[in-house]
Amino acid sequence: MINRRLARLLFLIGLLIILAGCAFPLRSQPVPTIAPAVIDQAKARSAQQVPPTQSLPTQPSPTQEPADPASTAEQSAVLLPQAVPDLDLLSAATHYTIDLQIDYPAKAFQGQAQVDFTNTEDVPLDRLYFRLLPNGQKSYGDGSLRVSSASIDGQPVKPRLSLSDTVLELPLAASLDIGDSLRIDLEFAGTVPMEFGGEDESGGYGIYNYSQGVLALSGWYPILAVYDQDGWNLDPVSVIGDSVYSDTSLYTVDITTDPELLLAATGEEIGQDKLDGEIRRHYVSGTVRDIFLIMSPDFQIVSQEVDGVEVNSYYLPENPQGGEAALEVTAQSLQIYNQYFGEYPFAEIDVVEAPMRYALGVEYPGIFLVASDLYADPAQDNFLVATAHEVAHQWWYSVVGNDVFDEPWLDESLATYSSSLYYQDAISPVAYRAFTSYWKDRLSDLREDSLDDQVTQSLGYFEALDTPRVYGTVVYTKGALFFDALRSEIGDEAFFGALQNYYQKYKYQIAETEDLLAEFEASADRQLDELFQEWLFTAED
Ligand SMILES: [Zn+2]
Repeated sequence: MINRRLARLLFLIGLLIILAGCAFPLRSQPVPTIAPAVIDQAKARSAQQVPPTQSLPTQPSPTQEPADPASTAEQSAVLLPQAVPDLDLLSAATHYTIDLQIDYPAKAFQGQAQVDFTNTEDVPLDRLYFRLLPNGQKSYGDGSLRVSSASIDGQPVKPRLSLSDTVLELPLAASLDIGDSLRIDLEFAGTVPMEFGGEDESGGYGIYNYSQGVLALSGWYPILAVYDQDGWNLDPVSVIGDSVYSDTSLYTVDITTDPELLLAATGEEIGQDKLDGEIRRHYVSGTVRDIFLIMSPDFQIVSQEVDGVEVNSYYLPENPQGGEAALEVTAQSLQIYNQYFGEYPFAEIDVVEAPMRYALGVEYPGIFLVASDLYADPAQDNFLVATAHEVAHQWWYSVVGNDVFDEPWLDESLATYSSSLYYQDAISPVAYRAFTSYWKDRLSDLREDSLDDQVTQSLGYFEALDTPRVYGTVVYTKGALFFDALRSEIGDEAFFGALQNYYQKYKYQIAETEDLLAEFEASADRQLDELFQEWLFTAED
């Protein structure tokens, strides 16, 4: 995502570019973007970590059940032909089958989720954790998500809620061995805040919200928490960053709504049934970490194809020029990143105009939001930077995942740096230099105020600081400058070669800082520790 606090810097970048004699040829050429930040200074509670369960002395190799052929065929429809073999990498991934009924006038919904889960960890599991993220409020506003019943393999289970009802614990009757599977059934219902759920800074971003006829549903279903080397990751919902940390899964979702609504979602609609006064749309997701939905009876849509991908721009009727510009910037960013990083695997990407507060844009797999108030003037830098930044998150966050609480820099610094490549290729190398030069000025300002910090700190660390601007400047700006310095140091071939290897190797997985740094050292064929220390692991006094 991109915080509005960072936006000021983009405006100045625009000035620099114009002073350098370079205009923004918006209608014909797209431009780059930057990431969002957050505003609240609330202290983060420390993450609730459950220690890993004991390792077995001997570990049987996982016995993966063969994927259901019908389901695989459906999921293939969402992937580009060359990415269909990727499904083989995910034969043991969790499969969510969800039936969702949306009551648009009531800003409410209910659903039934069947979750087919295989233990792919290297230890047996004695419980499972789901996240009910909207209950964390903050960026989700003051709505709710409740689970009314839960069962495992047909046996009712009594869930236990904790951490402001954002954690749903399901104890297992017997420990689930490595490679074994089970089915969880959950009934859930949610209510969505109106107008961001509050007048002050405690209100949401607009990601779980109803405003101006637009109903946005982020975090609308119980999503499995991630089990990693730290055990189960059960962090509190963030006030300054993204809160979705999840494993790549497959989703099949039937959505029943008013037929007048135009719906944009992760994945693709592959069929529909007309019901009595309603419509049921059949969606499949492909290989994704989350499924986001947004709808309005007023949405307009323009589309184009680039590199075999259908790009859809959803916009409100008063902003046709913004809708066209969002389409262009998204299409051009996609093309640029395809060349530098490796191919986007999905057949579709959606950019959606959404009423938002505190954020300029927010990313989800296959779909992202750009703040509606930017659409009135799509030539402004904030619009361009937000769009190019969120497109980059399709590579860094969506396809290659990371722990957004422990290592937010991994996706945010890379998405910010990526947006400068949009400036470089869609505008000019002069624009790229103006962009990075502006970042340097901002970092200098921070250092003059003695607020420099380590790029690799956790989200909780930054949230606990009294100065919210540190997060944006350190993680987005200084982190992006690290990549600029690294590229200068090792050259384009080694630099982009490393990013391509990182993308291929960690596709659909969760990468860590050491994984990325190791790719740069391997690609450059030398040790780069000094540069890593200087930019990532130290701060100037
Ligand atoms: Zn971002």
